[in-house]
Amino acid sequence: MPSSPLRLSAFATLVALIGALAGCETMRTDPSANSTRNAEVAPVPPAPTPAPTAPPGKKHTRAGYYVLYHDFEIDKTDPLFAELDALPDQVFGELKLPPSNGIVQVFLFDTQERYERYMRAKYRNLPPRRAYFIAEPRAGGTDELKIFTWLGDHLSTDLRHELTHALLRGVLKDVPLWLDEGLAGYFELPPNQDGVNAQHLDTLRRGPFQPDLARLEKLKDVAEMQKPEYREAWAWVHLMLRSGPGPKKVLHDYLQALRADPAPGPLLPKLREVMDVPEQALADHLGTVEAPKMRTRARAGAPK
Ligand SMILES: [Zn+2]
Repeated sequence: MPSSPLRLSAFATLVALIGALAGCETMRTDPSANSTRNAEVAPVPPAPTPAPTAPPGKKHTRAGYYVLYHDFEIDKTDPLFAELDALPDQVFGELKLPPSNGIVQVFLFDTQERYERYMRAKYRNLPPRRAYFIAEPRAGGTDELKIFTWLGDHLSTDLRHELTHALLRGVLKDVPLWLDEGLAGYFELPPNQDGVNAQHLDTLRRGPFQPDLARLEKLKDVAEMQKPEYREAWAWVHLMLRSGPGPKKVLHDYLQALRADPAPGPLLPKLREVMDVPEQALADHLGTVEAPKMRTRARAGAPK
């Protein structure tokens, strides 16, 4: 709805979405080239050439670390913006990483149709996803960090998820696929959820669940990351950040290594140095995590 304010209802239903696969893919790619993480993507089926389209950009809203491009009026007092403003401190603080100076460009389409039409035209090798983070190489060595998504009920979760990818990309040489998604899955949740994805937790507790971090660490293509892999990646991240100083230090040290070395080797052996059987530790941890209270968030103002 091109002329409507940012729909507050998009955020009021946030809780219902917690646990949903954010539906993103992280691409480290030149838009004209095939993705390095996307080798198994099915070819785009023959389709009529889409009409010329442009990304949103009639208006822009600048925040500390991102610029939001949009074609419609937005309500800058919406609590979403305060949440997004706080995200870098949350991510870098919890992970003990230095802040990034990078600016992320967020292109927010007003409708799913416009978003999909643009993505098909611009990134024709990408499979349909609800949101994308794309790091495009540019002269000088730094990547251009772009997020594309559209205004829908998933917006808050997806923006936090994709912005987490972008923040990590801004300070690390690379992030292993499973860890990238595990961390984004952890930080996509509002801070008051303490990183607990109630839906993931419930599914993993009901089982069967056979954690296998060695397998997860071998995944290179985002097509291999399906819901079970996202769930497991989240669970390992939550274990490391929320089960005690030893595992947390393993993650912190690993992230520090990634600041200088894009491939510091597997993390599992380092986890085994502080946990005899990490898989059992994960099962025990999931048994003790307190599920967040499911609740709706009242918002000031009504959808217009
Ligand atoms: Zn992601």
